[in-house]
Amino acid sequence: MKYAIIIPDGCADEPQESLGGKTPMQAANTPAMDEVAATGVVGRANNVPAHLPAGSDVANLSLLGYDPNVYFTGRAPLEAAAQGIQLAPNDWAIRCNLVTVENQVMRSFTAGHISTEEATELLTALQADLDAGSHENGPPVRGSLKFVPGVSYRNLLLLQPGDAPAPFSNETRTTPPHDLTDKSVAQDYPRGPGSDLLTELMGRSHDLFANHPVNLARQAAGKLPATNVWLWGIGRTPQLASFQQLHGKSGKMITAVDLLRGLAALIGWDRIEVPGATGYTDTDYAAKGRYAVEAIPTTDVICVHVEATDEASHEGDVAAKIKALEEIDRHVVAPVLAALRAQGDFRILVSPDHPTPVRIKTHSHGAVPLCIAGSGIAADANQTYDEPTANSSELAFEDGSQLMPYFLKS
Ligand SMILES: [Zn+2]
Repeated sequence: MKYAIIIPDGCADEPQESLGGKTPMQAANTPAMDEVAATGVVGRANNVPAHLPAGSDVANLSLLGYDPNVYFTGRAPLEAAAQGIQLAPNDWAIRCNLVTVENQVMRSFTAGHISTEEATELLTALQADLDAGSHENGPPVRGSLKFVPGVSYRNLLLLQPGDAPAPFSNETRTTPPHDLTDKSVAQDYPRGPGSDLLTELMGRSHDLFANHPVNLARQAAGKLPATNVWLWGIGRTPQLASFQQLHGKSGKMITAVDLLRGLAALIGWDRIEVPGATGYTDTDYAAKGRYAVEAIPTTDVICVHVEATDEASHEGDVAAKIKALEEIDRHVVAPVLAALRAQGDFRILVSPDHPTPVRIKTHSHGAVPLCIAGSGIAADANQTYDEPTANSSELAFEDGSQLMPYFLKS
């Protein structure tokens, strides 16, 4: 049996006045997803326990069958795994966004989608400044703190203290910058053990970036400057059993987002890199669909994660969210469903990880709609794939990590 999992990140939402009371999923023209619903079942799953932060890290762990209450240790260690960084048990990884903060208000958690080249130049300057000087309080900085440039505004900071005690603990608290768009940041700087070190680094970057040539050029071009680094998502490497051990199946991941690449690496899945996949609304949907179809004969489970729906939501753009849903339906779900049918026994699951309501421009807690069709799945009465249908369904997983065993059951 072959399995496909399609994750339109953050696509679940609320009724919109601008859509006559419909949600973006209801308003979007998605015949392939509705076909899965009509020939299979529609239900819902809660992937984010109330006490954990609503985000792709917790939610995708759950969606892939890993109880986040047991396995979640922060976002950054997952992204470090994506970059092939082996963290020692005493090492800490910290997500490092380049952001734009004006008058203590988060103007942009992406520094206006700064380019990878610009971001690397700024982080290299900060690293040089760090290596050139010592740190007032906390561990000696030289040699134990390292900035690791990633893609655009998504970067990492590693603390590798060796045998020295690390200043952080599970009580160290940080706030994701995408939860602070257009809000004051004054109450959301790092808190708890080691927070002074993080705050000091954020302040150091502010001073250094103020008149940096990269920012002067961006401002001259009418673009937002990167005013400082924002440090969050701190943690140590989670100890995850492989997907094969946990669920008895092999798998491959198609995604343009480091977080999902890292998660795939930690559960023993291969990552398929698709040229043109950007992790944004300009991604090459057709290429992702093509590579997924080509991968079906080579693995038990093929998973396609698409970030575009989440990015559109963070920008509060309903039209872009609907367009992304329609592109995913036409270029990913439809061809994958056809290819699965043509090869024999199969199952397909379409489900976002968490809701990202355009009203609040960030992730939220709450159940997400899912649909499953294929061999051994008796069709229910539902005909469309959307939130109201899912909310009235009897198929519900309060512990979202129980969906995967249900989907893979023989
Ligand atoms: Zn997400």
